[in-house]
Amino acid sequence: MTRFEVTILGANSAIPTANRFPTSQLLNVNESYYLIDCGEGTQIQLRRNKLKFQRIETIFISHLHGDHYFGLIGLLTTMHLLKREKPLKIIAPERLQEIISIQLRAGGTQLGYSIDYVPLVFENGYEILKDEKISVKVLKLSHRIDCAGFVFEELEKPRNLQKDNIDKYNLTFEEIKNLKNSIPIIRDKKELLEQLLEEKEITRTYAYVTDTKALESIIPFIESVDLLYHESTFLKNETKRAKATFHSTTHQAANIALKAKVKRLMLGHYSTRYLDLELLLAEAREVFENCILAIEGKTVKV
Ligand SMILES: [Zn+2]
Repeated sequence: MTRFEVTILGANSAIPTANRFPTSQLLNVNESYYLIDCGEGTQIQLRRNKLKFQRIETIFISHLHGDHYFGLIGLLTTMHLLKREKPLKIIAPERLQEIISIQLRAGGTQLGYSIDYVPLVFENGYEILKDEKISVKVLKLSHRIDCAGFVFEELEKPRNLQKDNIDKYNLTFEEIKNLKNSIPIIRDKKELLEQLLEEKEITRTYAYVTDTKALESIIPFIESVDLLYHESTFLKNETKRAKATFHSTTHQAANIALKAKVKRLMLGHYSTRYLDLELLLAEAREVFENCILAIEGKTVKV
């Protein structure tokens, strides 16, 4: 099975501590890197986890609160200093482009690579990226400013022919080529395709739901995902505060996981007030058992 895993670079909310960083995650899909949010300190965390900057192809920024993008200008500049030439795609709220260009211009910096800005469309199910490995769809979240979640879905790989079928069916070169493109062959007036190919590989899906109040409207779009990251800034006794700040509690995150029948839930975006994160985990497990904590440096296979 190819690699499909997420490394946690920052799992805290806005105020960092000595070992807890604001939000950032690196999704590795068969050695293509997708950076999801880029809080302050992200490049240090990439270094610590020995993740190569230049392998990052696309950066997703969920919203323009600083704890989700203040690390971006530093990372972009370092990529330039490391002589990056490969274009970089940034999927973010539209105004980010202006923010970054002001910072670069003020410092007289001209990047040695181009940035392809893709403005976010805040609409559930909108496909914001499709490349040869994944399709990424947007979730419209409900926060104090426009905020997006993302659903990363691995694409089916083209299937190979089962080798012994070449002799068995006397396949011509043309037929072999067709089968690889899912075009059936005809034998005894019957179309044959499925039974000649290797078995389908399972495709995996990762949903990233950051700053938001708990939102039932996203459930149809995250149904049955293999791993759901859902922010849980607060314990349930802070439900009022969660509501006022458009964040979620442990129970609310776990309830979304339960209703969406996801396979596994990962909590994150913890308020700095909580020194013992196990409390958050225990509370979420009262509602949804298969739950883990996002912790800096941890890599989770989807
Ligand atoms: Zn926020």
